[in-house]
Amino acid sequence: MNKTFYLETFGCQMNVVDSERIVSLLDGIGYSQVEDPKQATLILMNTCSIRDKAVRKAYGHLGRFKPLKEKNPSLIIGLGGCIAQQEGGESLFDTFPYLDLVFGTHNVHRLPELVQKVEQDRVRCEETEFLDMETRLRLFPSRTGDETVSRFVTVMQGCDNFCSYCVVPYVRGREISRPSQEILAEVEDLAAQGVREVTLIGQNVNSYGTQQSGEISFPELLTRVDAVEGIKRIRFTTSHPKDISPELVACFGTLPKLCKHLHLPVQSGSSSILQAMNRGYSREQYLKLVTQLRATCPDIRLTTDIIVGFPGETEEDFAATMSLLEQVRYAEIYSFLFSPRQGTGAAKLVDETPATVKSERFDRMLKLQDEITRQIWQADVGQTYPVLVEGESKVGEGQMFGRTTWNRIVNFSGSEDLVGQLVDVQITKAHRNSQLGELVK
Ligand code: SF4
Repeated sequence: MNKTFYLETFGCQMNVVDSERIVSLLDGIGYSQVEDPKQATLILMNTCSIRDKAVRKAYGHLGRFKPLKEKNPSLIIGLGGCIAQQEGGESLFDTFPYLDLVFGTHNVHRLPELVQKVEQDRVRCEETEFLDMETRLRLFPSRTGDETVSRFVTVMQGCDNFCSYCVVPYVRGREISRPSQEILAEVEDLAAQGVREVTLIGQNVNSYGTQQSGEISFPELLTRVDAVEGIKRIRFTTSHPKDISPELVACFGTLPKLCKHLHLPVQSGSSSILQAMNRGYSREQYLKLVTQLRATCPDIRLTTDIIVGFPGETEEDFAATMSLLEQVRYAEIYSFLFSPRQGTGAAKLVDETPATVKSERFDRMLKLQDEITRQIWQADVGQTYPVLVEGESKVGEGQMFGRTTWNRIVNFSGSEDLVGQLVDVQITKAHRNSQLGELVK
């Protein structure tokens, strides 16, 4: 029988990288990927549990596969990622009787063996054990080049920060940094295969190297990646503001390939809420960091994450968030209504603010930020910027697309031979999520 799998991925870049690994591992045991779950003999979901909404969405999608299993009892259905790690097999198997396989965030490498066990023995399988540091170091996901211009490179995993609202340290484990020689070898390999932009990823890349003695620092790692021939641009994410060192700020002034964009999650503009969130910095410290970044790199654009409605957030706290948005003028924000996550400190806090008040604050904030975002992207119209061309645009009609240093998508008329090149594009129109431009000859 033809073995085929359908894979759905939810959540952050770490899951995207894990899913690429899943594709390659399943390829190794004779599975080919299909786009339609009805064509699959194996359905896998790589899930995210960062917010209640993400969990409900994943469960909703899982429910859609039940009729397929009823029609075809030999279909294998598996669930991995953060929900699997958090809930464990026992509870998930109870809730979803049609589920065959549960694998945690540290067990992606065991997927072929687990799938084969379900195939052969028709038993339900679970593997959600956290691995020791030595084994994790051996198993860092590595990437090979393909047709893409831009790739993620994992530099560290896990998180030691225990922000009071976040499940990541519980579902991804403690921080561990990948050896720098391995990272550099991978970047060199990707560059040799045509990749032109790398994004160094991890839950908190700024603390790279601090857990292992003798390892280089994150600014030093960036400096070495900057020297790799063939790489034209470097990005990194995610950054914790408290771990941004003066040396890292300086990189934005000295490393020519480092993009002038930084995602710097603030979460709230109120120091007392930041303290309740266990973020490790105050509003004043955050703003000082922003000033230092802009003094070093005047063109830098910042994006951020905001949580509205954290337990105990008063109107005054919320006003502090609004004034922070006005002061920093982020290019984009990713905002969320607080959602208590089981097992975290914030889930135990008394939350007296009515949901209607939280929603109203949320809408007010979006309105303010939409206008700031619109003004920032609109001001680009008429300007000419280098764009790294990635491929044909989704809009079709002979349009190509690429990104500016600020990670903004620009569509423009051009030809495929530009892919992988940095070209000058004059911005002619600013849409909400992209810009339109003309190639400057
Ligand atoms: S830094 Fe905080 S928000 Fe980010 S992953 Fe770690 S615990 Fe979660």
